This record gives sequence, structure tokens and C-alpha cells, in this order.
Amino acid sequence: MKNPKRFPLVLLIVLLGSGLLLYWFGERWLRAVLLYLSTAVWAQYLVSHTRLAWRVASRFIAGETADDAIAAARTVNSRGLSATLNYLGEHVHTPQEAAYARDEIVRLLDCIQQSGVDANVSVKPSQLGLNIDPRLLYENLHIVLNRARQTNNRVRIDMEESSTVDTTLGIYRRLRDEDGYGRHVGVVIQAYLYRSQQDIAALMSEGAWVRLCKGAYAEPPEVAFPQKADTDASFVQLAQHMLSADARQHGAYPCFATHDETMVQAIRQFAQAQQIPADAFEFQMLYGIRRELQEQLAAQGYRVRVYIPYGTAWYPYFVRRLAERPANMWFFIGNLLR
Ligand SMILES: Cc1cc2nc3c(=O)[nH]c(=O)nc-3n(C[C@H](O)[C@H](O)[C@H](O)COP(=O)(O)OP(=O)(O)OC[C@H]3O[C@@H](n4cnc5c(N)ncnc54)[C@H](O)[C@@H]3O)c2cc1C
Repeated sequence: MKNPKRFPLVLLIVLLGSGLLLYWFGERWLRAVLLYLSTAVWAQYLVSHTRLAWRVASRFIAGETADDAIAAARTVNSRGLSATLNYLGEHVHTPQEAAYARDEIVRLLDCIQQSGVDANVSVKPSQLGLNIDPRLLYENLHIVLNRARQTNNRVRIDMEESSTVDTTLGIYRRLRDEDGYGRHVGVVIQAYLYRSQQDIAALMSEGAWVRLCKGAYAEPPEVAFPQKADTDASFVQLAQHMLSADARQHGAYPCFATHDETMVQAIRQFAQAQQIPADAFEFQMLYGIRRELQEQLAAQGYRVRVYIPYGTAWYPYFVRRLAERPANMWFFIGNLLR
């Protein structure tokens, strides 16, 4: 884009176009368009250079520095909630970029220890080199986990596109078992993937530390449920497996990442019926989303953890949040128009 002054204008056109798509074709189309935009380099360039866009995105992002994330964690802790901090960034292209992210995450673990906040850390495999070479991801995670062990903390490996699941799970198991990081490392399973039933069965028999979520990427019907109702049904089924007596005997501590009250209610009902104590599992939600539900659950004695992202590479994370709830687009467009 040669003329930066045109950024807001072009952005407004893209957003209004999206609004019309939503009006004519419904949420499914808009979601598909937004998920495409979350990976489009031209859109990233356009939006991340617009100060107005950052103003709206900052509703979901704590700030640009580790200090901002620690301050947000402190606020979240004061509301009776735990935190997981995420240094934003994904799909890096060079080993140097991956090393930069690794060093920032190591520094973050130090900041958590020094500040005394109740927080662990979440990382994206592609931020630490997965797409360059899986060995690079493994080596970088090794360094991060070493510091997690030294600072008595834990690191969760987020799950990205379905094509990365086998490699991510393989590296997770290697670090957990062969390298002895055990419960310092955890992983994520996405309910929209058909394979997740098998993955959860295996991981629960291993006593793994797993976060269950619905899944945030554009996936083809060959690997993932196209209909939201099927993903929801899968989420409930997998959650019940994670809460089963068998899974708990193996030492599982299930984490359920959702803002969906129907999912939350299904988990609560199952746990009550099975007489599972409220502190035997946790709910997880994103920073800036459903604050009142987070506080309500904590007041009822449930453990709740808030995922707090920070950093300058906020674009793909932000657009995925718009895709999850297209109504957020109106909030975005309204701010731009104002
Ligand atoms: C802590 C955490 C970690 C995650 N980690 C991963 C991961 O590693 N890999 C991965 O693929 N995905 C991850 N996700 C994203 C997840 O897969 C879903 O895309 C996301 O949580 C939306 O699904 P939902 O279960 O909240 O419910 P949905 O069915 O999408 O929405 C239910 C309701 O929740 C509210 N809601 C949901 N999303 C939003 C939003 N963006 N803004 C405002 N309200 C909203 C709305 O009221 C909506 O009606 C994570 C989510 C959380 C909370």
C-alpha cells in the first residue's frame, strides 16, 4: 500500500463488505471470510498499520509488553481468577524469529516468578518454529520448559491447524515422558476434529494435562465437523470422558476452554451428578470475553483461568476472535465510523 493515509478507507471498505456478506449470506460465510483474512498477508499489513484497529483489538489484548501482561494478570487475580499468559506470534519464517519468541517466553516465566502473579504460560507451536523444522520447535520448547521447571511453572502448547496435530502431540509426549517434564507441559485438543475422540482416550489414559476447546481454524469437512451443533455435541462427549472416574484415576486435571453457557452448564451438571469436586477441573476463557460469566463461576467455587495475550503480533489472534462472534464486527465498524 503506497499511501498509508488510505489504510482506514480501504479497511472501512473491507469491513463494510464483510457486513454486507453477513447480511446477505449469514454468519457461516462471514466466518469463512474472516478466517481467510486472518491468514492473508495483505490484510495483516493493512489492519495492523491502522491505529483505530489496534484500539478495537486492545479489548482482547493486554498490551504490547510482558509488563502489560503481568499487570493484566494481577487485575485478573484480584477478581479471583488465574491466568495463562501468551506472547502473541505465529507462523514465524526464520530460526531467528523463533529464537526471539523463545527468549521472550523464557523472560516471561521469570517475570511471572518475580511478580508472584498466579499465571502459567501458553505458546503456539508455529511461533517456536514448527513450520520451519519440527526439531527446532522441540529444541525451543526444551529451553522454555527447562525454565518452567526452574521457576516451578507450567507451559501449555496450544493447538493450531489440523495438519500439525500429529507433530505437536509427538513433541509434547517426547518432552513429557522422555525428557521428564511431566506435568510442567500440557497440550490442547479441539472438539471439531473427528480424530479427537481417539486422542482424548489416549491422552486420558496417560494422565495428560489437557485443555479442551472447540477449535478456531478453517478446517475442511474431511477432518472436522462442518456443523456447529456436531462440534458442540463432540465437546460435551469429550468433556465427559475427561471427567470420567477412569481419567481422574490416571491423574487427569481437565481444563475446559469455552464461553458457551450451554457447554459450561453441561460440564457443571455432569460434575455434580458424578460428585466431582468443583476444584478437580477448571474453566478457561479469553481476556475481554464474557467477564461476568468468569466472575460468576469463580464466585460459585469453580476454578477459572483467563488467557491473556500480549505483544505486537496481534492481527491473526484478533481476526479469529471476530470470526468466532461476527457480532464483534459491528463493534469494530462502529468504532471506525466514530
Ligand atoms: C482459554 C482458551 C484457549 C484456547 N486455545 C485454543 C487453541 O489452542 N486452539 C484452538 O484452535 N482454539 C483455541 N481456543 C479458541 C476456541 O477453539 C474457540 O474458537 C473459542 O473459544 C470460541 O468457542 P466457544 O466455545 O467459546 O463458543 P462459541 O460456540 O464459539 O460461542 C458461544 C458464545 O460464547 C461467546 N463468545 C464466543 N467467542 C466469542 C468472541 N470471540 N467474542 C465475544 N463472545 C464470544 C458468545 O456469547 C457466543 O454466543 C481457545 C479458547 C479459549 C477460551
